[in-house]
Amino acid sequence: MATGETDGMPLQGSLFGDEGDVAPSAEKTSIDPATRAAELRHLLDYHAYRYYALDAPEVTDAEFDRMLRELQDIEALHPELVTPDSYTQRVGGFVSRQFEPVTHARRMYSIDDAMDLDELDAWLARTDEALGAGASSPVAYTCELKIDGLGVAVTYQSGGFVRAATRGDGTTGEDVSANVRTIRDVPMHLKPMGLSKVDDKGLGVSLEVRGEVYMPKHSFVRLNEEADAAGNQPFANPRNAAAGSLRQKDPKVTAARDLETFIYAVADSAPLHLSSQWEFLAWLRDCGFNVNPNVARCMSAHEVHDFCERALANRDALDYDIDGVVVKVDSFASQDALGFTARAPRWSIAFKFPPEERRTVLRDIRIQVGRTGVLTPVAEFDPVVVAGSTIARATLHNEDEVWRKDVRVGDTIVVHKAGDVIPEVVGHVPELRPEGAPEFHMPATCPSCGSPVVREEGEVAYRCVSIDCPAQATERLIHWASRKAMDIDGLGDEIVGHMVDADLVTDVADYYDKLDEDSLAELDTGRTSVAGETITVGETIARKVCEQIEDSKSRGLSRVLFGLGIRHVGSSVAAALAKHYGSFSALQQADEDDIAGIDGVGPKIAQSVVEFLSVPENLAVIERLREAGVSLEEEGAGDQARPQTLAGLTFVLTGSLERHTRDEAGDALRALGAKVSGSVSKKTSFVVAGASAGSKLTKAESLGVRVLDEGELDRILETGEAPAAE
Ligand code: NAD
Repeated sequence: MATGETDGMPLQGSLFGDEGDVAPSAEKTSIDPATRAAELRHLLDYHAYRYYALDAPEVTDAEFDRMLRELQDIEALHPELVTPDSYTQRVGGFVSRQFEPVTHARRMYSIDDAMDLDELDAWLARTDEALGAGASSPVAYTCELKIDGLGVAVTYQSGGFVRAATRGDGTTGEDVSANVRTIRDVPMHLKPMGLSKVDDKGLGVSLEVRGEVYMPKHSFVRLNEEADAAGNQPFANPRNAAAGSLRQKDPKVTAARDLETFIYAVADSAPLHLSSQWEFLAWLRDCGFNVNPNVARCMSAHEVHDFCERALANRDALDYDIDGVVVKVDSFASQDALGFTARAPRWSIAFKFPPEERRTVLRDIRIQVGRTGVLTPVAEFDPVVVAGSTIARATLHNEDEVWRKDVRVGDTIVVHKAGDVIPEVVGHVPELRPEGAPEFHMPATCPSCGSPVVREEGEVAYRCVSIDCPAQATERLIHWASRKAMDIDGLGDEIVGHMVDADLVTDVADYYDKLDEDSLAELDTGRTSVAGETITVGETIARKVCEQIEDSKSRGLSRVLFGLGIRHVGSSVAAALAKHYGSFSALQQADEDDIAGIDGVGPKIAQSVVEFLSVPENLAVIERLREAGVSLEEEGAGDQARPQTLAGLTFVLTGSLERHTRDEAGDALRALGAKVSGSVSKKTSFVVAGASAGSKLTKAESLGVRVLDEGELDRILETGEAPAAE
């Protein structure tokens, strides 16, 4: 077995037992089909529970699908072993008591899988035959991308939003209406253009559309960066991040999570008087739903293959995760003729992409000490190319995660990229484990300062709590200079490390009131020239770095708050605080309840902010920043907020701009009320293209989205007025 080992893993409060129980093993422990089928049913139930109920899978989807396929194969050979509750006979899902149950207008089904093109061809041939297709009457198929999100049903009455529910067990879902209302692209009122195309009956009866809620890849990366920095458990992939964000008790949390949707189905097509999926997708667009633009109507197996191959080749370029292609018989009448099995329609198949997994050897598990003192184990392995780039390390997040995956130095490990972006260790290959490979243990003392490390109750992270830990100080100084914080070019890991060693800086205020250009120029870089001489930073670089430090003084409060590295305060929380209070002094006077009431903040973050502000040493650093001229105000926020003239408009920034970084330009647009997105779609109002803009520019042109240059951007920022969209 290549991935997702489960032996000996502790469960976290599940249906299957209390903490301390072990997850079932996926090893083939028996060749007796009845015993193996029972084992597989148990395994599938266990993993489906972790996936659907806890949004915390322990094995990859590919591994889960392999187990399901094995059970299906056994049941095909031994039909007497099929039990009514087997995972092969039902829609996988879960209805939590946290939410009100909702009965779907019609059942929501799963989709059968084709694991390769041969299986896809076999399905196409079977379907053609069942529909009596011939050379002169080919069957039309609609091909759509299989969005890796969370299925939802959204109900409208007379064109107005009524309710939204998760798929649940297919018959009953969870009422997540309050949370779905916060997703900006879900229309609260359908457009008359779409409604006018159906008769009065269609307008009056309730309409239940279905689609996928997903989290864009760039938002997933940001969310996990923030979780790591705060020592919280990150999400395994964008699908689980979307599910975890949607299934929240507090809609404010969902609102802060940047979810989007693609709608592609309807519970009952009869009132719409449309004849095919293809027409239906066009109708959905007319109603104002977000419909994925990458669709095709195919008239042959060859065209279906071509679509699947193009989707596979281009999946990395999309800002959302897809795990395959859904092929559907286009005609609604033919769909009705084919009907459903117990768990899936006969008129649709999901061509699943092969998982992009690679094997490599784990050479070390290094402990990194973060700026808040969190100790993070990092896997260092032989470089390997995955999804188009070379990776050599991946975070293992925390000790629990290392134990769960049971990876040890010397192991042959399996790696992939979560959401096609974040390198991740999936598991190890048991048969290739070298003898005596040592189990992993978190060190009892900080590898940087030697202080004891602690694990607070209820937390997964171990922390070094020493305030004098040089590793933490160095990380804080690096973080302050990073792009999303004060954006000081030239202050990377290496040079900051040398500056700390040489005692040029120990806290962030030292950058402004202690560091001088001459000492920086003379700083030893730790390298020697060919002639054996010590290489110093030199005057030119020292001057540039000092100029950058000077420039950073005007970045504003949001960047300062993020740069300070306050626990749980990521860039979006920092922006929310800065926007709300407008100045550091206003924030300082706010109490915990007031801070907790801000959209996207909440009690845990508020407590952390108040704790940070109650430490005299922290306040002393902030006072020194103020005295050195670092701006602790947020332009256009608080009382002097700029009018939100760009509200409702979505901008995408691409290529390199000359006068702004993309982050700065994005902040300035947001301050005027605009939404700034990472990907171009029909909903994009403007794309701002700098030099070397690539695929986003091409896409904007193909969709007819208006492209602006940097001069036009400057005019918008100056006047607050947007030009007309095309
Ligand atoms: P599925 O996700 O494979 O396919 C059905 C679903 O696809 C639909 O319900 C719908 O929500 C979605 N979908 C996305 N785009 C669509 C489109 N254009 N048209 C129609 N439907 C579209 O089936 P499933 O039953 O939801 O779940 C199985 C999936 O969940 C598998 O990928 C499986 O690997 C994964 N899973 C993983 C674990 C784990 O532990 N890793 C556990 C359980 C399930």
